[in-house]
Amino acid sequence: MNKKSSSAKAKLRCDICGKRFKKGGSRYRINLEIISDFDGHIEDLSKKPEDYLEKKMDKILDETKEMTEKELEEEIYLKRNWLVCIKKN
Ligand SMILES: [Zn+2]
Repeated sequence: MNKKSSSAKAKLRCDICGKRFKKGGSRYRINLEIISDFDGHIEDLSKKPEDYLEKKMDKILDETKEMTEKELEEEIYLKRNWLVCIKKN
């Protein structure tokens, strides 16, 4: 992130070319959203031992306990946005 854009008084600049937006000029907001998807496959738990799910949860909790909350969040959800001028050549 450009530190200059964090000030509210600073003029808005294009996130790609850095050019200032002209008053009344067109600009575009690009939103990128990545969300983890579920493939719909569910294991048949009736064929598994009784404590199968419990053990699996323990394993997941064990694997993720070292991760920070942010890392965990980004693993499944990522959102970015840019403000750009999109020059017409
Ligand atoms: Zn630009």
